[in-house]
Amino acid sequence: MARPRDRARLQIEERLEAEHGTLGQGRPAPVCMVYPSPYRVGMSALGFQTLYRILNEAGPGAHRAFLPDAWEPASLVWPAPKESVLSYEQSRPVSDYRILAMSVSYELEVTGVIRLLEGAGIPLYAKDRGPRDPILIAGGPLTTTNPSMLLPFVDILMFGEGEEQLPLAVDKILANRQRSTAIEAVAAMPHAMRGELEPGHFEAFPPQAKVDKSQLPAFSAITTPNTELADMFLVEPERGCSRQCTFCVMRGPSTGGMRLLDLETPLGLVPDTAKRVGLVGAAVTDHPKLEQLVDRVVQTGRGVGVSSLRADRLTPELVANLARGGYRQITVASDGISQRLRDQLQRRIKGESILRAADLVRDDPTVRGLKVYNMIGVPTETEDDVDELIDFNLQIASKVRLTLTFSTFVAKRNTPLDGQPFIGTKQAEARLKKIRKGLGGKVQIRPQSPKWAHVEYLLAQRGAESGYAAVKAVYAGGGYRAWLRAFESVEPLPRPLVYGDEALKARRAQRAAERQAKARLNVLS
Ligand code: SF4
Repeated sequence: MARPRDRARLQIEERLEAEHGTLGQGRPAPVCMVYPSPYRVGMSALGFQTLYRILNEAGPGAHRAFLPDAWEPASLVWPAPKESVLSYEQSRPVSDYRILAMSVSYELEVTGVIRLLEGAGIPLYAKDRGPRDPILIAGGPLTTTNPSMLLPFVDILMFGEGEEQLPLAVDKILANRQRSTAIEAVAAMPHAMRGELEPGHFEAFPPQAKVDKSQLPAFSAITTPNTELADMFLVEPERGCSRQCTFCVMRGPSTGGMRLLDLETPLGLVPDTAKRVGLVGAAVTDHPKLEQLVDRVVQTGRGVGVSSLRADRLTPELVANLARGGYRQITVASDGISQRLRDQLQRRIKGESILRAADLVRDDPTVRGLKVYNMIGVPTETEDDVDELIDFNLQIASKVRLTLTFSTFVAKRNTPLDGQPFIGTKQAEARLKKIRKGLGGKVQIRPQSPKWAHVEYLLAQRGAESGYAAVKAVYAGGGYRAWLRAFESVEPLPRPLVYGDEALKARRAQRAAERQAKARLNVLS
């Protein structure tokens, strides 16, 4: 049987051979971009690809490394059998690099962070690293909400968009020979903070970085058949969203709204080798020229993907072009399971728009089905809402082949619903059971596990102690019970208070409490 390092090298060679656009091979680099999920996930992340490209094209060079596939399952005996964590461009252990730049997308990836660091032989906690250890900088989409769980592990946490911040941080590290002074120099940047300075001590979060529109768009460096978005060149025709859905971390007030690009900019970047083009953004269907964009892509004979489709923006022409670009199923989001809840969440999608989307799918000769994203467990949801969902979707299922996905609501920081309770796994399971029964096999149901939503909720709502809890959970096998026990065993730490919404929310809550107290006094007097 091949040794772990030989196995890893062989797999890397095979994957590199299938890539178009690999950068940095045969060139030393001070940075390894590490992703805490396997290759097929990391290579589908537009931010990860963009920073890799920027550091190679205009910086000192960067290589890549990923969580070994064998360490991906949520439940896994840990420590697992040894695997080598090598960079792709140089087959070098990641622990040899001076700088590791890690992108973390969502809360549950903390498991991958722990396994990757430990498995690569890097001291897990920032406070235990010495002068010869790499400097770990983490950033990514998770920093738009609550990245507290990363604080025990990172030397530096960078908030918001990284196109300008990461190259600057790398320059500062390279200008400082000593590890400690390099970390201090980066921590002094306006959108950066240190990890754990001393046991249990964490500073407040800094504001999020936002790049100038001239830095957009983000686009892929590499296309490969070995990702979730196989052979797809990713590019953003816009960034952010102007809408205000109360559960969403991408909502306008949190991210500064939508930055639109003209039609030619993303199209001009598509390389000849791309077989498919993915138009990526929080609200791509709000782009005023979306129809032309999709039309221009499919006219070149390429496949197309759009990262989010709004039911009320679909037209017969758009559906036909999506079908030409390879779509066999159109996916739209309802989120709230009744009109009352959609309105309450400020989702601004009407049931009629979803019904119309079903008509468009039915009338297109190539598209075979409609998929609708739903979210159970949002505040104030009742059995009446569940009944409405069942009746409504039976109506849709009479028109088209219908698939419904169900996530369970998780309150996120930096949103107006921050701090709202989790529905509970038993109640969420009961709702799903009722929905399945009510739909009587006429609809395909794809629920996500309420148990993992519960773990995500705990991570999203707690402070840095959730990082310590995650270590205990990983060592106890990573199952749901292990997570619950781990959270019970750690002392809550205050969440580092936040920029933007949270401070505003605290002031509003204070004013509301004062008004209520005054009203009570008036009643009594
Ligand atoms: S759910 Fe979609 S439309 Fe609503 S704020 Fe988030 S990105 Fe925008």
